[in-house]
Amino acid sequence: MEVYLVGGAVRDRLLGLPVHERDWVVVGARPEDLERQGYVSVGKEFPVFLHPETKEEHALARMERKVAPGYRGFTTQFSPDVTLEEDLKRRDLTINAIAEKPSGELIDPYGGQRDLQARVLRHVSEAFVEDPVRILRLARFAARFADLGFKVADETMSLMKHMVASGEVNALVPERVWQETERALGESRPDAFFQTLRDCGALAVIFPEIDALYGVPQPPKWHPEVDTGVHVMLVVRYAAKIGAPTSVRFAALTHDLGKALTPQEILPSHRGHEEAGVPLVEALSERLRVPNGFRELAVLAARHHAVVHRAAELRPETMLKLFEKTDAFRRPERFNELLLVCESDARGRTGLENNPYPQAAYLRRARDAAAVIQLSEEDRAGLKGAEIGEKIRALRLAAVTAVKKEFAGKLAG
Ligand code: ATP
Ligand code: MG
Repeated sequence: MEVYLVGGAVRDRLLGLPVHERDWVVVGARPEDLERQGYVSVGKEFPVFLHPETKEEHALARMERKVAPGYRGFTTQFSPDVTLEEDLKRRDLTINAIAEKPSGELIDPYGGQRDLQARVLRHVSEAFVEDPVRILRLARFAARFADLGFKVADETMSLMKHMVASGEVNALVPERVWQETERALGESRPDAFFQTLRDCGALAVIFPEIDALYGVPQPPKWHPEVDTGVHVMLVVRYAAKIGAPTSVRFAALTHDLGKALTPQEILPSHRGHEEAGVPLVEALSERLRVPNGFRELAVLAARHHAVVHRAAELRPETMLKLFEKTDAFRRPERFNELLLVCESDARGRTGLENNPYPQAAYLRRARDAAAVIQLSEEDRAGLKGAEIGEKIRALRLAAVTAVKKEFAGKLAG
């Protein structure tokens, strides 16, 4: 039997990137052969084994054959006769289909090294169409490698368009869509994930709410980029650039969904889009089984981003209400994340990337000043339940008012 290093480890080393995980393929062996050598079988739908010492994943060389539409709609054939070339052929991208012998020699039958050099994401073979997850994976690699200059090969883009047109993408299960989306959001250029999906038509199928934002105009005074879809991609890109958590990036993606519902006659204004977007964020999150933490921040961002932008004009009462509605006293970190979404929204606009965003520091300061308010035993004496709450509220209002005075002049109106 022969063992080869494959996949991301070979690719990343050739790109000069750090290698996080190593995947191996074993040719000429049966499951029993590996077990006899101490490999431990891990229960997946195809035979994968953990090395007795390194615990790294070793898969038996395999071929796949499509039997039904969609994710998992294929049978896997594995036998000691499956060759390395056959195994590499069922892999998604040429850059992921390079094998390395223990001697260091590379086996690269599908031009992976050429495509690494040329910065091209290209499918290995027509078998690509058999698994729509590959579209998501490719888009995710586009997000990871966009800054290195990687582009999708024309023929791969055509293939993906065919897959979308044939309805293959409808068969993707929500869990898998979210899993790939969350990982893509964590990459350096998540906007390239959504752009790639849009280019092949998959965005309209799996994220129709986002696709609907393209072609919707906004006032050029505030949004020099005009197009709402373009704006949202800039926002996501900015959030990634500042290293914001993936929950912030997701909320950046969905904060303006309501703009797709704006009545034609009031365009390019979007009065009321914040609240209008909330049910859309909820529906998208429900459909893709987005975890609650992501969903809650996304709803807060959709609902409150415009109020946060107007921080300088808010009366202390309104500011206090914002803190209460966003549960900012009990969830200070999430409130800070909300501010990061809003900063990304303000700067994810063509030419406005370096505009100051004093709103964030101001609201943080006001929130902190109000949060530390406590009633001493003395203050509480003689007060009944509801009166205690009112007293705290009055003191918080005074604290917020003091911060407003302190910041007067530091905030651009
Ligand atoms: P990462 O750095 O994210 O681990 P990777 O390329 O190693 O990237 P894995 O998900 O670890 O990706 O998969 C290992 C290899 O298995 C890939 O490089 C690819 O060759 C192959 N592969 C994984 N999933 C698929 C798929 N759905 N279709 C075809 N090939 C796949
Ligand atoms: Mg890997």
